[in-house]
Amino acid sequence: MDTDLARTWVQAIAAAVDQHKDHLTQLDSAIGDADHGINMHRGFSAAAKVLAGSEPDTVGAVLVKAGTTLISSVGGASGPLYGSAFRAIGKALEVPTADSQQFAAALAAGLESVQKLGAAEPGDKTMVDAYAPAVAAFQLRVDSGGDFAAAAGAAADAAEEGMRATTPMQARKGRASYLGARSIGHQDPGATSTALIFRALAQTLE
Ligand code: ADP
Ligand code: MG
Ligand code: MG
Repeated sequence: MDTDLARTWVQAIAAAVDQHKDHLTQLDSAIGDADHGINMHRGFSAAAKVLAGSEPDTVGAVLVKAGTTLISSVGGASGPLYGSAFRAIGKALEVPTADSQQFAAALAAGLESVQKLGAAEPGDKTMVDAYAPAVAAFQLRVDSGGDFAAAAGAAADAAEEGMRATTPMQARKGRASYLGARSIGHQDPGATSTALIFRALAQTLE
């Protein structure tokens, strides 16, 4: 991945979030405060706009800038969480071009940063339930000789599976946790946007 592809990834996320904005908000209306689509749309359209007018030297600089913009433009829990993830991914990629092994490590650093900030474990019904299996699937595919595109495709598939698996879970973190057992039976909004982010990565690299 080079700086142009990194920027294309952020733009592809912005486009996907734009397309799925109402769905994300609907999911959040069931177990949250009905703003996840709005938050994601505000954050990623701002990030795409900031990147359109810049010429960063490294993949990391693109992604750090995206993360910083998410933090400054989104009020909800997802802004700081995704912002810290993109900043951590970016900080791990201070190179003009990143290979799949470097990218796998960067994704893992992003996950670590989300968990450090939000203290969610797999099974808590959050974005971590899509992000953690995606990181594992990406690394596994790289280790078994898959190219960057194949790894990203495997990560997107795993994120979508993780997203679907949040439906029967009871939320233990975030706003949805206030509902207790009533959070069961609804797909987590943040796990859903994480699946969009990994699908956008796969589409960018294919
Ligand atoms: P808010 O809940 O502040 O309105 P959003 O609606 O934008 O923020 O985002 C909600 C999503 O954020 C949830 O669906 C969940 O996936 C994610 N989330 C909330 N709290 C945490 C946490 N502590 N760790 C990881 N993800 C979390
Ligand atoms: Mg919300
Ligand atoms: Mg909110």
